[in-house]
Parts: sequence; C-alpha cells; structure tokens
Amino acid sequence: MGEADLKRIISLEKNSPFKRGRHHVALLYAAPYRAGMASLGYLSVHRLFNEHPDFSCERAFSDLTGTDASPLTLETGRPLNRFPVIAVSMAWELEVIEFIGIIKKAQIPVLQSERCHDDPLIIAGGPLTQVVPSLLAPLADIIFIGETEASLPPFLDLLATMPPRDELLQRAAAMDGIYVPTIHSGAIPASPAVPLSLLPAWSTFETPLGEFGAKSLIEVERGCARACAFCVMSRKASACTFRVVPPETIFSLLDPTPASVGLVGAAVTDHPQIHAILEHFVNAGSEVSLSSLRADRVDEAMLDLLKRGGMKTLTVAADGPSERIRQSISKGISGDQLIDLAQRARLAGIGKMKLYQMAGFPREDDSDIREMGQLLMDLSEKISLTVTVSPLVPKPSTPLASAPFPPERQIKSVLKNLKRAVKGRVIIRPVSWRDAALEYALDQLGGEAVDELIDHVDNQSSRGALVASLMGMLRHN
Ligand code: SF4
Repeated sequence: MGEADLKRIISLEKNSPFKRGRHHVALLYAAPYRAGMASLGYLSVHRLFNEHPDFSCERAFSDLTGTDASPLTLETGRPLNRFPVIAVSMAWELEVIEFIGIIKKAQIPVLQSERCHDDPLIIAGGPLTQVVPSLLAPLADIIFIGETEASLPPFLDLLATMPPRDELLQRAAAMDGIYVPTIHSGAIPASPAVPLSLLPAWSTFETPLGEFGAKSLIEVERGCARACAFCVMSRKASACTFRVVPPETIFSLLDPTPASVGLVGAAVTDHPQIHAILEHFVNAGSEVSLSSLRADRVDEAMLDLLKRGGMKTLTVAADGPSERIRQSISKGISGDQLIDLAQRARLAGIGKMKLYQMAGFPREDDSDIREMGQLLMDLSEKISLTVTVSPLVPKPSTPLASAPFPPERQIKSVLKNLKRAVKGRVIIRPVSWRDAALEYALDQLGGEAVDELIDHVDNQSSRGALVASLMGMLRHN
C-alpha cells in the first residue's frame, strides 16, 4: 500500500479525532480496516487517546501494510516498530493469531519476555480481556481488564510522564483494572464496572469504507440483566451490571444529528426508553440500526420506527434449537414469539429476517434439531429467512463453561438434517466448526496455547493442523 492509498482512505473519512501530540501511540486492530472502523470499542479508545493533551494516536490495521508487508499506521504511514507504545484492541480469540503475525512482520519480538527496553511497549484491551486474559499474558506488557473508561485516563497521565519501563509497570500494576503479567503473575485483577457517569462509548468518526458504511455509533446501554447460560454478557457471567444511558446524554453527544446512527449494546431493546431514542433519530431523518434486538421486545410502535429508520432486515436470535433447550439455557424466547414477530414485521414492511441459532448443547438430540427445522419452515412462510447456525462454544465464567464442545460430525449432521428439513426455502449459513473449535481451545488453554500459535504463524501451517494440535493439548491436560 503506497502513500497515495493511505491518503485516499483518509480523504474519505469524516470527524477524525486524530491530533498531533508530544507522545506517539499506534492503536492496532488485528483485523482489516473495514472491521476496525465498525468497532465502537476501537473507535472510542482512539478518541480517548487523542483527547489526552499529550498523546497523538494513529491507527493500524491488519491490511494496512507497506510494499514489503510491514505494518504501517494510517495517519502518517510510519512503520509500527517506530512507535514507543502499541495499544491493541482485541475482541475475539482468533484475532490473537492475526496479532502475532502483525507483530512479527513489524520485526518486534512477540513474547513480552523477549522484548527489551528499546522495543515498543505493548498494551492490550478489549472484550477478549474479560473472557480469557491469560491468552494475552505472554504477549502484552500491560493488559486493561474489561471496561477501560475509568482506568485509561489515569494510566495515560502516568504514561505521559514517560517513567523508565520498570517503574511504569510497577505503578500501572497498582492501578485498578490493570493487569501486568510480569508483576501479577497469574493473579488477574478484577474488572471493575465503570459508573454510568463515564458512559457511553461513542464515535462520530465515519467512513464509507467501514463494514456498516458511514455511521456514527453510540452505546445506549452496557451489560445485560438477563441470564442466558451461554453468554459472557449475562448477569451470571459478568460482574458488570446493566447500565442504561439517559436519552438526553445520547442526544447531546450526537448533536447535530448524524445521517446514520448505530445504537450499540448487548441488550439495546431492554433500554426502558428505547422508543423515545429511536423516535428522536427517526424524526430527525436519520437512518437507525440496532446492534441487538430481542423478539419479545419488538412491539408495533418499534417496528414502525425501525421501518421508518430504514431497517430492511430484522435480526434476532433464538439461540437454542428447541423450546426445551431454550428453557434450559434461560433464553426466554419462544418459537411462537418469533413466528408472531415475523408476521408483524412483514405487515410493517420489513420483509427479511436473519436468525441466529446454535447447536451442540448438552443433552441436545435429534428431536431438538427436528423442532428447529420445523420452526425455520414456519418462519419461512411468513418472511424471507436466513439462518446462521454456529456450534456452541462453552465460554469461561458462564454456567455452560464445563460443557463439552460439540464434535464436528455432530454439527455436520445438524446441518444436513436442517438442509433436508427446510427444502431450500431458507438460506442456511453455517459458522465454521474449525473456527469455533479454535475459539474453544484458546479459551480453555489461555496462555498455554501461545507457543503453538507462534509456531503456526512461523510455519504457515493450516488452521486444521492448528486445531488438531490444540485439541491434542487439551486432551492431555
Ligand atoms: S444473549 Fe442477549 S439477552 Fe441473553 S444474556 Fe446475552 S446479551 Fe443478554
């Protein structure tokens, strides 16, 4: 990628918070530009860094490289290894593999134990730190656990004084929510929930090249008060409580009202004033999208607002394949509610539904999959339907943490039976079993998996071979 390409990308962007400062940080997203520019967490941290008077924060992405494949920052085109500090935002286990590849291409030692004082300091944050912080421990010097709004500003004040690295690590380790692997060893500090006064995360930084187009993003709530047994956001898995952002805060941060707004959160439709929030943006002429929608929360008024806000496809989750499994995982959504919603959505002029389903739950059998097939057929009579089917990945800290990961043959059989049941009337999109298996193995092994990941990157072995070797390690543990 040449200078002209970087300039072209920047010329299409609007409202960048980037500014020049005394100290330089590269903020890496270990995935392509279009994904990073749709990540509210990443954009929000980029804004927080640049709001600090002493810092200048540039962005780096997996697909932003020079002609020799070395990673570059977007704002100045400088190589990543020229930055004294690299921060990385991690959302998903598989991004760790991409991260290792990027750091290697930047000719920076990947393991924190092999970096010296002249190498960049690597700081990690993001949702992955709440799921499996130990996976990042061999790689990062400093890890922000969970929500960062309270811990990042005082840390930046400390970093701005540029103390010697040992002193910086010692002082950072004493701060709330910061994990320094060389000091804490395996004792990972708790992740404090930030108070409502520090919410929401928001960004008006827009580009048409982002995954969801040019859109301002704002969090309307954080956490979830529900208890779905598979979910890391549920009140059973996370100490972070459900917090709702007052509508007036949302309206004042997005003033003037953007042409397109994404309302973000794990349980957006549980916001008690979600109708008023939607109405505000729709009446101002904005396109509005929601990052999550529960079928039992969508009434006629909301459907009307969603339609007026430009929604063409209703995206909802059933998760469990049958009523029996959905009850056992406390999902609280019935097949009848989904069918009723599909019918009302079509009447309201929203003609497509995208449904998320999982398979491979404990005690699941053929009758559950037959019931899923019947539900998909019933839905397809009401609305044009696409279903994404993913293998259950039992996540740490959830009530399903110790459940077995479903074998590949089980998921293949589920998909075969579903395809037969829907007779071509529903589009079925399977999530890769191999990627889900990799996610599971990395969650289970944590930092123990890192040497295998480095070998995989060095030898460019196949993903299948990596899964086989990690699963082998798990069996021997
Ligand atoms: S699946 Fe949705 S509703 Fe259930 S706990 Fe997770 S975020 Fe909440």
